[in-house]
Amino acid sequence: MFERIYQGLHCLLIRRRVPTAVLGSKHLESLFVFGERHLKGLLFDCRMCGQCILSATGMSCPVNCPKLMRNGPCGGVRPDGNCEVDAEMRCVWVEAWAGSERMAGGSAINVIQPPLDFRLRDTSAWLRSITGSSPQVPVKARREAARVPMAATRENHLEEVLRAGQFAVTAELSPPDSADPRGALRKASVLSEMVDAINITDGSGANCHISSMSVAALLVNEGITPVMQVTCRDRNRIAIQGDILGAAALGISNLLCLTGDAIGSGDHPDAVAVCDLDSISLLDTARTMRDEGRFLSGRMLTSRPNLFLGAAANPFSPPYQIRALHLAKKVSAGAQFIQTQYCFDLPMLERFMGQIRELELDQRCFILVGVGPLPSARTARWMRASVPGIHIPDQVIDRLERAKDPKREGRQMCIELIQQICEVEGIAGIHVMAHRNEELIADVIRESAVRGLQRKVSPGTKFAGETKS
Ligand code: SF4
Repeated sequence: MFERIYQGLHCLLIRRRVPTAVLGSKHLESLFVFGERHLKGLLFDCRMCGQCILSATGMSCPVNCPKLMRNGPCGGVRPDGNCEVDAEMRCVWVEAWAGSERMAGGSAINVIQPPLDFRLRDTSAWLRSITGSSPQVPVKARREAARVPMAATRENHLEEVLRAGQFAVTAELSPPDSADPRGALRKASVLSEMVDAINITDGSGANCHISSMSVAALLVNEGITPVMQVTCRDRNRIAIQGDILGAAALGISNLLCLTGDAIGSGDHPDAVAVCDLDSISLLDTARTMRDEGRFLSGRMLTSRPNLFLGAAANPFSPPYQIRALHLAKKVSAGAQFIQTQYCFDLPMLERFMGQIRELELDQRCFILVGVGPLPSARTARWMRASVPGIHIPDQVIDRLERAKDPKREGRQMCIELIQQICEVEGIAGIHVMAHRNEELIADVIRESAVRGLQRKVSPGTKFAGETKS
């Protein structure tokens, strides 16, 4: 019904465009704002962003999302479909996908939405549609894009391994709370011989540590390949684009584009969450800088950054049925490799990979599955209850509970899981995590002995250096 009303208005107002002069002045804007605020507020809980995309979001207003996600759900949706940040609220994107399935034009939810133009807040999207006025698009910049040279590049070991069809192994390094580089380098030295790249978290759990870019640059100087995480939570589009250029200038080319954990879960719950971009618009921004040689504003770069772009996926968090489609949207936005949330449920991963293969996404990006050893049943229960987006089946907790030595059992379970994951078609590698326990990560990788194996692919797959864009 809402879709029909919306389309009716579209025909009535938009297709019969009326010049602003006929409609009148500023008073008309106030009239439209009043009407739109109350009508759409009542029907759709509209927040008046001035860039209405309700018809592409199942009539669910995305501005109600505490992380301002404009392109789909974050990875922290609760098992009951409620919001990671506000447990009392239904996730806006769970509602959006359910709504879009009931709409004739529901596939519009797959369209990549640009970041919000904050100048348009509290203005009338309807009036702008009627008069045909829209924010400026940097057309001239697009024409010039091909002339911008790429910055000098260094070899990227992770990309080479993935394109060679070898099973890749990456590990997470938790940056210390220190200005002394030796701490981070000590941690990296434990991992460097065991992995193809070391992934540096960017304020994980919304806690403050030494920055991801600085540790990544330290690793580059040591000849270690880093993956620099970039979250949208703490920086706006100006700062992020500057950081992307800075990272590339320092020899960092692997970027993992993330939305970021909710600020309330960290050690500065009183801080503001920026969320100017979301993970998909961040990917699209980085891709634009690399491929078109321009900033989001349209201003040209003098040389383009060389980037290998990654994104996160969580097959273990609702809405489960759209997680593969959401990954497809990230790939369309520029993701070349994907890192999943912790996997503790192999059958669930296999179902997800079935959808991925059906959509041929395993041929368009490299999928690395997140794994990690659980030290005890108590920790597993705590993680399941407290860490957004973590799914741990009861059988896993029972096995830990029954074990004489739970730590040893958790390590063994992780090794077994890695070896099983390595057999799943379309998976390009693993990403091993254990908070502040690099020795354990190295031990698990060594014992599993999967690094460098030829990876399993769907019959007829030509992966290697040919990720279809
Ligand atoms: S769960 Fe994530 S995507 Fe959904 S409303 Fe909450 S913050 Fe937004």
